[in-house]
Amino acid sequence: MSDPAALSGPDKLLAEAALRGRRYVGEAAARAVRPTTDSLTGLDRFDEPLPERASDPMLTLSLLDEAGSAATFANTGPRYFGFVTGGTLPIALASAWLGAAWDQNAALPVMSPVAARLHAVVRGWLIELLGLPPSTVAAFVSGATMANATALAAARDDQLARVGWDVQRQGLFGAPPLTVVAGDKAHTTLLKALGLVGLGRDRVHRVPADDQGRLRADLLPDIQGPVIVCVQAGEVNTGAFDPFPQIVSWARERGGWVHVDGAFGLWALADPARRHLVQGLTDADSWATDAHKWLNVTYDSGIVLLRDAEALHRSFGSVAGYLPPDEGFEAMHHTPQSSQRARQIEVWAVLRCLGRTGVADLVANSCRQAQRIAAAMTQAGLHVLNDVVLNQVLVAAHSDDATGRLVTAVQDDGTCWCGPTVWNGRVAMRISVSGWNTTDEDADLSAAAILSCAEQVSAATSA
Ligand SMILES: *Cc1c(COP(=O)(O)O)cnc(C)c1O
Repeated sequence: MSDPAALSGPDKLLAEAALRGRRYVGEAAARAVRPTTDSLTGLDRFDEPLPERASDPMLTLSLLDEAGSAATFANTGPRYFGFVTGGTLPIALASAWLGAAWDQNAALPVMSPVAARLHAVVRGWLIELLGLPPSTVAAFVSGATMANATALAAARDDQLARVGWDVQRQGLFGAPPLTVVAGDKAHTTLLKALGLVGLGRDRVHRVPADDQGRLRADLLPDIQGPVIVCVQAGEVNTGAFDPFPQIVSWARERGGWVHVDGAFGLWALADPARRHLVQGLTDADSWATDAHKWLNVTYDSGIVLLRDAEALHRSFGSVAGYLPPDEGFEAMHHTPQSSQRARQIEVWAVLRCLGRTGVADLVANSCRQAQRIAAAMTQAGLHVLNDVVLNQVLVAAHSDDATGRLVTAVQDDGTCWCGPTVWNGRVAMRISVSGWNTTDEDADLSAAAILSCAEQVSAATSA
């Protein structure tokens, strides 16, 4: 047992992993979306003592599959509507496999020429696809939370540099005041990001939102001095977009920075049918988005975009003797990370395979399925609480209690999976359609399952 590689060689092992992965993906659409109780009990198989000696890797792989696969949520299937999760396009998975085999460190071009080239190509394609300013820089991070934090750090340093304060050298102690403005319905991770970059979760000036969760531009404060305003493309419950043109002109009058949290909603820029939502969105200074949500790539994959590449470099550049000046985009000098995987691989592969119209279709299909499910809910007498402008639907039964029991019944049923939320003081079920593979049939199957659960809940209440 001294040489585990001799037991099952890499080739055999990788073939077996591919076989098991293929089987998993092939079965994802037909199985219950939530894991069964038995499969959760099966997780006990992982509770082993740390092995003393090496063993055949094939046994480890089969344990991972046998105990692990069944205890997953079928996110990659067509009827997972929780959070804003999305699935994985086959080309995203396939390129992730090959990319993992390469084991590239994308920190610097000198470490991975292919990562550097794919980064440059993806940056150009994103600018074109989303209609961003030609100067825009793109950097890959773990998700929208880190993309928000990265952009906010750069915004902070830019705004304070304008009043003569160098945050990177001097820190924030004793710095001139910097106002952060955000809507009442800003995503919780935006506040986490603000805390992380030292701007505080509670010292944010919160602007009231309207009934769809849009920041009320008419209530923006009359303030002077350094300011960052955080806006939202895609409210996590309703899918609503803030009124960007008014907010941007408010910020421009003050020399402020406009940051957009567009974790999923930014992709609406790719769909010509959503033009009315995204007006003014590309006039911001920075944007945070996810590729692992609506673009349907593997985890983890967030993208931060900045109009001004220098601003990103000012906040994240680092210097050491063994880091000579390099050609091209130096990821480690533009992100909080140093070593990093080449997330651009899957993003490149998906953009290349879908093309401009394919991304538009991906967005349009999710929105259409959301509409289809919403229509079925309304028709059957359930309440849809939001204007379904994107891929999000909020459903409520006649009382909070009934809605809560509906969510549990839907999750237990397993045809689809939806999570709970509270919207404007009311309990609701969130239906978030973000997967590439949700068909009309999946929407209808899911709607039928939800309605049958609603009947059971209502029968149990009247009994
Ligand atoms: C999901 C989400 C985030 C956080 O993204 P992660 O990828 O989970 O870090 C931020 N903002 C909004 C609007 C989101 O939907």
